[in-house]
Amino acid sequence: MVGYKGICLMTNKFYITTAIPYVNASPHMGHALEFVQTDVIARYQKLEGRDVFVTTGTDENSLKSVQAAAKEKVPAQLFCDRNSESFKKLAKDIGLHYDAFIRSSDKDAHWKGVERLWKSCFDSGDIYKKTYKGLYCTGCEAFYKESELVNGLCPEHLTPPEVVQEENYFFRLSRYEQKLEELILTNKLKVTPETRKNEVLSYIRQGLEDFSISRPAERSKGWGIPVPNDDSQKVYVWFDALSVYLTGIGFGRDEKLFEKLWPADIHVIGKGIIRFHAIYWPAILMSAGLEVPKEVLVHGYVTSGGRKMSKSLGNVADPLKILGRYGEDGVRYYLLRKIPTFEDGDFSEEDVVTTINNELVGNIGNFVHRTLTFIYKNFGGEVRVDGALEGAETKVLMEVGTLVSEAETSLSKNRLGNGLADILAIAAAGNKYFQESKPWETVTSDRQRCERVLFTGASICRTLSVLLYPYLPVASDKLSSYLNIDIKSFDDAKPLFKGSIKTAEPQPLFQKRP
Ligand SMILES: [Zn+2]
Repeated sequence: MVGYKGICLMTNKFYITTAIPYVNASPHMGHALEFVQTDVIARYQKLEGRDVFVTTGTDENSLKSVQAAAKEKVPAQLFCDRNSESFKKLAKDIGLHYDAFIRSSDKDAHWKGVERLWKSCFDSGDIYKKTYKGLYCTGCEAFYKESELVNGLCPEHLTPPEVVQEENYFFRLSRYEQKLEELILTNKLKVTPETRKNEVLSYIRQGLEDFSISRPAERSKGWGIPVPNDDSQKVYVWFDALSVYLTGIGFGRDEKLFEKLWPADIHVIGKGIIRFHAIYWPAILMSAGLEVPKEVLVHGYVTSGGRKMSKSLGNVADPLKILGRYGEDGVRYYLLRKIPTFEDGDFSEEDVVTTINNELVGNIGNFVHRTLTFIYKNFGGEVRVDGALEGAETKVLMEVGTLVSEAETSLSKNRLGNGLADILAIAAAGNKYFQESKPWETVTSDRQRCERVLFTGASICRTLSVLLYPYLPVASDKLSSYLNIDIKSFDDAKPLFKGSIKTAEPQPLFQKRP
């Protein structure tokens, strides 16, 4: 299919997913980070004119749900309903726009797709039954090899695994060893960043063993999706949860949508679940005759005082509470600016306050507010430049133009923190220009000169409103309404060198925090 510019329309879609969190515990900062990263990428792609679809959801069929529900003495379904809602609330409060939210306990939306995927792998001869004995971590819902444990403990949870012996269905992962290595080495399945790619390659090169993809129904307490044609077994939670990426776009119920959107362009995940996404998942897909995702983008953990947040250390920050205190823009800004996109980063509430006050309020908000207020008060909300700008005006707008290109490059490579640094640099350049041009000195003596300065400032505000669209949608909306612009594409971020800019009376974009 070829579009009007000769562009292949099939490539104009963009399908991105968050990982599908377990509902056995409340959302934590890592989920907040992942939701924000996913949303920035999705909104940026929209600005670049792509037809974007976002899938998220909750992973509910695990043994952990059953155990956590039992501990609270509530039925598993009720427990899942409640906790799933808190993830929906997190998505809403942090501004993650999604097109599908799939709960893996949802029979209509999800189960048929999982059954179909299972049958496809079965028909390829990759599923067989055997008795197995191994070390199992319920926290991870995964078997570990002795060599993978740290002092005999699960490397993720630092808890001792249980010895489990049972008859399960297995997936013939060993058969895909070479194909997987090739996929990842050639970037046909890109793993970002490079350090994570090397980690995956080294894992594959140690040799891949077949892995269990079912549980006895008895051990699952009857919870989960039955294995097709064998009621005594339930589908293993990872096989089930990964399928959300397919069922979110209609696999097993809306073939047209699925054909249009698969393969995923990006799966955004945390570093603890790479093995499932860069090894198990593409192997399952190849077995089922489906395309593999294009990229797995791996973020680090949000730590506190340099340590993983945990209840026992008492250093857990609840994202819903933090959002209640600092709002969508404040929390999005902090996470994108202070947590490196691909590495671990430390969270502190004190730092949230400082960052909001210094950068959002003191830099970006200050520049926009002083410029627009000045225009509204002294020029009735419209500044016009008919001829060509020159001197300091051209210089600052050229500088802004360069930063816009840099931000676009960063965003196109998903270097989200770098793009935000460019935005901050644009606001700083605007503040410096405003300070040095002193429009308050020429407002009566040289109206024309003053208007040129303010037009230049307003042009920079326009640029900011577009660049903020992926990062801080609330602020971008306000700013574009003050400037009467309708943001349609990333091209709108390019600074204007002449014309007329109308502005409304502005309110401060951000609020100073005590
Ligand atoms: Zn574990």
